[in-house]
Amino acid sequence: MQQAQAKPVSDPPKSNKPLPMSMRVANAMHKIGVVGLPRNYEVFYGAISGTNPEIQQELMEIGNNIDQEKLDELFATHCARADDDAMISKICDAVETKLSSTIEMIKNEQSSVSQYGKILGQATQKLDPNTRMAPEVMNKLVSLLSDATETTQRQGQKTLEEIQDNSSELQAIKSELAEYKKQAETDALTGLYNRRAFDNRLGGVDSNLFNQSALIIGDIDRFKTLNDTYGHPFGDLVIKNIAKVMQSNSRGDVLLARLGGEEFALFSTDINEEGMMRLAERVRVAVAEESFGDGRIKLGPGKVTISLGVCHASAADNVQALYSQADEALYASKRTGRNRVTSYTELSKSPERKNLYLYKD
Ligand code: GH3
Ligand code: MG
Ligand code: MG
Repeated sequence: MQQAQAKPVSDPPKSNKPLPMSMRVANAMHKIGVVGLPRNYEVFYGAISGTNPEIQQELMEIGNNIDQEKLDELFATHCARADDDAMISKICDAVETKLSSTIEMIKNEQSSVSQYGKILGQATQKLDPNTRMAPEVMNKLVSLLSDATETTQRQGQKTLEEIQDNSSELQAIKSELAEYKKQAETDALTGLYNRRAFDNRLGGVDSNLFNQSALIIGDIDRFKTLNDTYGHPFGDLVIKNIAKVMQSNSRGDVLLARLGGEEFALFSTDINEEGMMRLAERVRVAVAEESFGDGRIKLGPGKVTISLGVCHASAADNVQALYSQADEALYASKRTGRNRVTSYTELSKSPERKNLYLYKD
């Protein structure tokens, strides 16, 4: 006997024709109020199409409490990496193919040269200076040697050309790799270094350079309100413009990174504490004086501000301390009114410090 079919949980479809995947993804995003950014689409596509079961699982766990920060986390963890892996394997395949064909050519070249060597050897044996050789034998020998020389030369020339071709292809792969490395280290929105590159750079600081290193961490003030008021795409534009302000106010040797969301880092291995404080203040003032607009919305000076925390290595035992103390200084800036710079050195002397841990907003 045929078993009864389980009833579908969702509403019965209005037509037999299933909706295309793109519509299903867009509908699902719209239903729970997710902004239609390409990276959000990628996350939802992975979940709804079932091509990314991990995202599917995590989105189910998050449920309706989804916000952009969680979506960005999902994107960074599950989508960006997949791209990286695909790119690495593509480049590895290309290098392997080129190397194999170069090795094959060199092997052929070796065998043709050794063949030529054999012919030369045989000819030498026949060339006995004590015996007069009949002219026709001599002719035959000369033509044999000349043919062998020509064949070997032709083969050599062909191999050289092919190796040159391969070498320029390998050169192109090398540039592709360099481009990939740059992409993997770059934050797509701002063009600054991303969190991964920042962590690597900070973690790899030479102990001789550490003593003259300093770190600023900056975080846009009340950014959630800005997003809620003007929309996420406008928030993105603000992040992008703040990155530009930071770039135009920093020396070339300052590493600028977007640590995630609306948080930035400025790191130098060649600066004293006063210099770093001046840089932080310059960035703060420049952001506060900047206007932000997209033709539709216009925010004049003072509407977007940033809080910053500074820590110099002279006040830190190691890079971890440098980071957490700069962060502590940033939170002191938030707590004491925002749109300001706090130095960890000053903060550590302040009796206020112990209350900072109460900061919640
Ligand atoms: P505070 O002054 O204390 O820093 O307040 P805040 O509102 O800036 O801080 P909070 O951490 O509460 O909010 C940060 C917001 O940044 C929440 C999140 O939606 C938003 N956000 C994170 N990443 C992005 C992004 O890439 N683009 C946009 N537009 N918003 C983002
Ligand atoms: Mg933040
Ligand atoms: Mg903020």
